Amino acid sequence: MEDLVKTLAENRTFTDAEFAALLEVDRYDADLFSEADRVRRAVYGDAVYIRGLIECTNFCKNDCYYCGIRRGNKNASRYRLSKEEILSCCAEGYALGFRTFVLQGGEDPYFTDERICEIVSAIRETYPDCAITLSLGEKSRASYQAYFDAGANRYLLRHETANPAHYAKLHPAELSLDNRKRCLYDLKAIGYAVGAGMMVGSPFQTTDDLVADLRFLEELEPQMIGIGPFLRHKDTPFADMPNGSLPLTLRLLAILRLMFPRALIPATTALGTIHPHGREMGLRAGANVIMPNLSPSDVRKKYLLYDNKITAGEEAAQALALLEKTVSDAGYRVVVDIGNPK
Ligand code: SAM
Repeated sequence: MEDLVKTLAENRTFTDAEFAALLEVDRYDADLFSEADRVRRAVYGDAVYIRGLIECTNFCKNDCYYCGIRRGNKNASRYRLSKEEILSCCAEGYALGFRTFVLQGGEDPYFTDERICEIVSAIRETYPDCAITLSLGEKSRASYQAYFDAGANRYLLRHETANPAHYAKLHPAELSLDNRKRCLYDLKAIGYAVGAGMMVGSPFQTTDDLVADLRFLEELEPQMIGIGPFLRHKDTPFADMPNGSLPLTLRLLAILRLMFPRALIPATTALGTIHPHGREMGLRAGANVIMPNLSPSDVRKKYLLYDNKITAGEEAAQALALLEKTVSDAGYRVVVDIGNPK
């Protein structure tokens, strides 16, 4: 095996130059993926955890330059789910075998803390055996505490990029990396299992930026790490930017598995969108989570973060049997389990 890969597996970290070498050439890929798979099997076996994703609103007060549901996109057809609709998604998901619900949405002022807590409490009461994951953006520490007290136990908030200058090229001035990081540290301090991560190949990203992302993740030590390729959306300022790269995303997944053997790492929808077998490739590179869509089918096409987002086939939670087959063909096994971080 290439020494570089062996060293990373043993030390779980690297010099900046070694990280850059691994990211920039494809010479190490085969060893990288097989070593990541070995490490993942040593900790999690062949288990692939499933999370039911409920996209509860595509209203957003933010204007991130890359995102299709940004405030400035006047072509987006907006929707939000009611508490009853969210609960019926959970009921359907529970019957299908899901034991984790992920409520994700834009930063929609309609969803006040009171409304969010009411929804979380209702889910917690009905499904005491399930994990409730929120992904609702940047809030105050008091808000995060209130959701936690209502029964939420995990929170996904990608840091997007750990370089403040790069962050400023992807977001308007009112959004800052400092606040994003503050949120992540508050969430950890409250007791949430926390997910961070970045888009791969976002506009203006350099290898140094990715190395900074890995350093930030080392510092934060999140239980979950979500990465996926940047994909352009036609109604955003980045409409003409190139998409992120599949090989680079896979390489990063494998590096993350070697750095964080116990992390829960999804093979994301963006990965499944950039290549028809992207998610299976992600699993083979070290990912161990898949998040099928539990949103009502009529709103799925509206939660359009990027062009051509997959919404049918095994992406749909209802097609779990199809997903089970794909995962088993790739050499893994879908498990019905709350899938807590080890
Ligand atoms: N509002 C919440 C937040 O900011 O975390 C959750 C929703 S946000 C749409 C979820 C994630 O979608 C972001 O963290 C970002 O990484 C990803 N995303 C948005 N636009 C994307 C794009 N064009 N390509 C790939 N991923 C994108």
